Amino acid sequence: MSPHLTDFTPSAVAAGDRVVVFGAGDVAQLTHCALESLGIRVACFVDPLLTGAGTRLRGTEVVATSALAAMDPDSTCLIDAWDHTRYARKSELLARFPRVFLGVRLLREADFDESGAPVAPEERGRRIEHYAAQCAPLLAPTGHLRLRSLDVVVTEACSMRCVDCSNLMQYYAHPRHSDLDELHTSLEQLTAAVDGVDEFRVLGGEPFANPRAGRVIRTLTGFQDSRRVVIYTNGTIVPRGDLMESLVHPRILVKITDYGEHSRRHEELCAELSSRGVTWLSQKPVWTDSGRIGRIERTPQELRRTFSDCCVNDLLTLLNGRLYLCPFSANAMNLGALPAAPQDVIDLRTEWPRNELRARIEALYTRKSPLTACTFCRGRDDTTPTITPAVQVRRPLPLTPVKGRA
Ligand code: SF4
Ligand code: SF4
Repeated sequence: MSPHLTDFTPSAVAAGDRVVVFGAGDVAQLTHCALESLGIRVACFVDPLLTGAGTRLRGTEVVATSALAAMDPDSTCLIDAWDHTRYARKSELLARFPRVFLGVRLLREADFDESGAPVAPEERGRRIEHYAAQCAPLLAPTGHLRLRSLDVVVTEACSMRCVDCSNLMQYYAHPRHSDLDELHTSLEQLTAAVDGVDEFRVLGGEPFANPRAGRVIRTLTGFQDSRRVVIYTNGTIVPRGDLMESLVHPRILVKITDYGEHSRRHEELCAELSSRGVTWLSQKPVWTDSGRIGRIERTPQELRRTFSDCCVNDLLTLLNGRLYLCPFSANAMNLGALPAAPQDVIDLRTEWPRNELRARIEALYTRKSPLTACTFCRGRDDTTPTITPAVQVRRPLPLTPVKGRA
């Protein structure tokens, strides 16, 4: 971590300074928009995943990280707007630059009302708060352990069977709903050991396939200090009764992935949620080729890069009473497809002394080395090829458990 990392204020920029935004995704584009609305011109975006020269974004050039070497450190002011604040964690990249900032206040205070501002308005606030949550420990290391998000899996079942599901549903031959008593015990233990969870994400499979999921949702909305409970659904099921009632809460957001003809109850679901005042958002998906279990031959260096650049390498997942660092690891291990890796998982079904559990969660959450699962995963970063989403298969894919050496 850079010792000089602070939250950006406009007074940090002097006339003649070169302002550079790290990253080129949603948060970087919002940062660009916020800076320009203050009359601060952005010289360029720097993106580590840039593949070709000449790319422009919002009218501004995008350059590769190698371009940093030629920049004058005294006149260059860097703002890390990479969604996962990876630059901020790469002190070797930042060592030459005394002025490196995060853009939390900048984004929170920006007026994005102008037309042409990036990111859909209903999604903008969430993206900014997601970024802010990741910046928080970098800006004010307090010894607190607050988790950005927790995926809470309520079922292994899905109403669709997508051949490339990155949560590996296509491999479940006999999917089960989660044991809710076990899930509640695990949640209680986990939340007692940390200083809060910003966002709970309820998912499956298809969470509405479990008619008793309302009980979990009520528990999660009962945690007063979490900002959001987001339910991820594929638009095939309109929940009824208690499950639908559990969604009527100001902190609930239902995110519907619109798979076109496959999301056969999409319109009905949207109308029903609207009629009850439930906040929802529907989006078309973009998929990467990340849904297959199989050993990938990589050098140790490539494996480390696969992990460190993975966009879900801190997406803690609670599945069947165990806590994992990412959904691929969770489901591949739950399926019994990987060699045993006790260091990659925390079993919350057994009772832990609070401090020991807290230390284990922190070690998993801040982990820097690849998981066993990474060896068998195609990875999830901007270099992973995109594919056609939601291609259906009739039967579960065959599963060949991988034994021995990881
Ligand atoms: S990607 Fe497809 S199979 Fe996977 S959870 Fe979503 S709808 Fe179900
Ligand atoms: S197994 Fe590794 S590379 Fe795959 S999704 Fe998880 S953290 Fe990312």
